[in-house]
Amino acid sequence: MSISEADIRAIIAQVISNLQNETAAPAPEAAHAAYEHGVFATVDEAVDAASLAFRKFAMLSLAQRETIIRKMRETSLAHAAELAEMAVKETGLGRVQDKLAKNKLAAEKTPGIEDLFTQSFSGDNGLTLLECSPFGVIGSITPTTNPAATIINNSISMVTAGNAVVYNPHPSAKKVSIKAMQLLNQAIVDAGGPENMLTSVLLPTLDTSEQLMKHPNIQALVVTGGGAVVKAALTSGKKVIAAGPGNPPVVVDESADLSQAGRDIVLGASFDNNVLCTAEKEVFVVESVANGLKAEMLKNGAYELKGYQLTKLLDVILTKHPEKEKYFPNKDYVGKDASHILQAIGIQADASIKLIIAETPENHPLVYTEMLMPVLPIVRVPNVDTAIQYAVKAEKGNRHTAIMHSQNITNLSKMAKALQATIFVKNGPSYAGLGFGGEGFTTLTIAGPTGEGLTSARTFTRKRRSVQVAKET
Ligand code: NAD
Repeated sequence: MSISEADIRAIIAQVISNLQNETAAPAPEAAHAAYEHGVFATVDEAVDAASLAFRKFAMLSLAQRETIIRKMRETSLAHAAELAEMAVKETGLGRVQDKLAKNKLAAEKTPGIEDLFTQSFSGDNGLTLLECSPFGVIGSITPTTNPAATIINNSISMVTAGNAVVYNPHPSAKKVSIKAMQLLNQAIVDAGGPENMLTSVLLPTLDTSEQLMKHPNIQALVVTGGGAVVKAALTSGKKVIAAGPGNPPVVVDESADLSQAGRDIVLGASFDNNVLCTAEKEVFVVESVANGLKAEMLKNGAYELKGYQLTKLLDVILTKHPEKEKYFPNKDYVGKDASHILQAIGIQADASIKLIIAETPENHPLVYTEMLMPVLPIVRVPNVDTAIQYAVKAEKGNRHTAIMHSQNITNLSKMAKALQATIFVKNGPSYAGLGFGGEGFTTLTIAGPTGEGLTSARTFTRKRRSVQVAKET
């Protein structure tokens, strides 16, 4: 049987139509969102739409930008609880009330227009301005641990600076991340801004993350996550702002207020079940106050594991690398409640137990592995100098976050100099360093590896010099 040219044309038309329908209608597994408010089928489409939005946004006045940011905050607050619930349901990580606190914090304390400033130089030769101007279209790769809070925080900071953003959320947090992004996009439009200032693909994957990193129309990359994504972004050849992992040590010396230290360490280390990169991950306590500190922790919701119980727990929560002397957290227990983790080794505990503690030596896998679980190793040391020395080792040069409980200014100063952390919290829970119960603004993207530190709107700008030369008289 021969096929006519007309038949061939009809077949080609049918195939094209099928393909178009496939991209127009989400596949069943992608039914979490529709192709609207910034969601696209491909990275190319997401970047094109954001590029167009960026050009339109540049035409708006600063007053309009301020109105848009206000509306983004209002929308984030109105949906903070819904997004917190979605995040826990989808990722299985953390606690709803703590996710809610993070969403609110990002909405209220991420800096806006006031963070941008213009420097001026005037003299006989005229007037020169050094202005904060946007990068353009930013590719932002976001984590599973603070999904909605990072989208709220990054969107407010980056749009304040005049950028459009293409997100590649963590695949395990795509529903909540995309929902947050769509709500914020709607807020921008409602406040008079263009559509698609924030975009994403419907189904983010490692593949789309890599495509974003290589896309020619992405002017800067902002990655928030573990070591692998930081490494991948740093080889992209683009401007990169990288927020990588931490392993924050806590040092407690003999001058510490033990009741405050015990309470604050439990509060910080159990917040959102320890998934925050800034949360207390290991404690080095001077021998003479170790028992007192543990007693205070036990009063405040900690549960101590001894000897064989700890061995049992390690079998459950740690996975050993097949070749290297390296351990990984068992993903099934990351971000889970302490009571759930205890149950896995046959210990019944109620919800008042928020944190598991155990004494370990300094070179223990729990000390040097970023677990992201409410399980906190405690190491006794002879003196504060040893504590600081071990803290430096455990922090592994991330220069991320460190915490110290001490009334001794000399010791606090020694610790600050030795760690060189981006956030150093003294006599408080770690989250005070994010502006939660501590002074200062909030960010969920703490860029240690590339040196920007705590990011805000001005981090997402380049300095542009505008020169008006005086007329010769
Ligand atoms: P993750 O590294 O698994 O994922 C983060 C993002 O990177 C995701 O969108 C993921 O899809 C992408 N990704 C991962 N590997 C990649 C690769 N090889 N190439 C391209 N893209 C890749 O991290 P997570 O589990 O979502 O978050 C927890 C980690 O993030 C912890 O290590 C934590 O300390 C860190 N974190 C750091 C900050 C900070 O501000 N410094 C904030 C939150 C989380």
